[in-house]
Amino acid sequence: QSPDPTLRPDRLPEDDRALRPQQLGEFIGQAEARANLAVFIESARRREQAMDHALFHGPPGLGKTTLAQIMARELGVNFRMTSGPVLAKAGDLAAILTNLEARDVLFIDEIHRLNPVVEEVLYPAMEDFELDLVIGEGPAARTVRIELQPFTLVGATTRLGLLTTPLRDRFGIPTRLQFYTEAELFEIVSRNARLLGVTAEDDGAREIARRARGTPRIAGRLLRRVVDFAVVEGGGHLTRALADDALTRMGVDARGLDGADRRYLRLIAESYGGGPVGIETMSAALSESRDALEEVIEPYLLQQGLIQRTPRGRMLAQAAWTHLGLDAPKRPGQ
Ligand code: ADP
Repeated sequence: QSPDPTLRPDRLPEDDRALRPQQLGEFIGQAEARANLAVFIESARRREQAMDHALFHGPPGLGKTTLAQIMARELGVNFRMTSGPVLAKAGDLAAILTNLEARDVLFIDEIHRLNPVVEEVLYPAMEDFELDLVIGEGPAARTVRIELQPFTLVGATTRLGLLTTPLRDRFGIPTRLQFYTEAELFEIVSRNARLLGVTAEDDGAREIARRARGTPRIAGRLLRRVVDFAVVEGGGHLTRALADDALTRMGVDARGLDGADRRYLRLIAESYGGGPVGIETMSAALSESRDALEEVIEPYLLQQGLIQRTPRGRMLAQAAWTHLGLDAPKRPGQ
């Protein structure tokens, strides 16, 4: 049986609608991307044309889906969503494209995982709003051209490097999303606490923000768990001491690293003397897929200066030894 190409099986229950910002003005952080998008949206509205195709790239949970939804709302058009891996056949994509109304936003998550056959169909659709479909097989096969309504494709990817050049080149608006600052996450946590109907002391919200790995999705998840502790053990008060205690009990350390992050760092420290270690070796030793290491764990450790990527593999930086409470081994010549 073929999966519904518009399903999102990977959505976490924490990502509910209540907390999602609905307008560009409510979206905190990503100031540069937001300012540019505001101009492109306004221009498309005034010209009454479909906005140019946009590509959002960056680690998971930074707001790519949320921004695409906001774009559709501000443009006053429908939002349709699918993802690279569920579009198995050219026909799956054709079915979605032919159902779009003029100027709709079509969001394709994990666009780096598109089947090459499907990707071929996407090129003329993006460029000329046309579909070339092959009907039938063998000598009776023929190509039919279908005109599409103009639409805006928003692609999202955690791995820009895995996109083919022809696909990448067809996006007029490439946008890189950055990790959020502690101040931005503080605003997000405070807003979410209000939406959840809890009163959080500023110091409590700040403690969650500091330990959210620069990521709004993680901030939302940690907030919910801390609220659970506040309700059961804290008389409903979200204080700094309560947040600290709850986060520590959940295995989130003072820097926001969780068990998986620490296992990663410890492996390089304890089994490989600080590295370099190849990614495949890491993947086998940790029983984590290479993709999960590269897309979820490493970006934040790199951004924090805890690890370095070298041509020979991953290496621990001094900050990681300090964080683990270990002494870096003396190397010859140092
Ligand atoms: P991505 O598509 O990049 O994986 P999402 O758009 O699904 O990330 O966002 C993950 C979660 O974080 C959602 O619940 C969303 O509401 C929240 N979120 C993301 N960006 C922001 C932001 N700037 N302000 C407030 N909440 C945000």
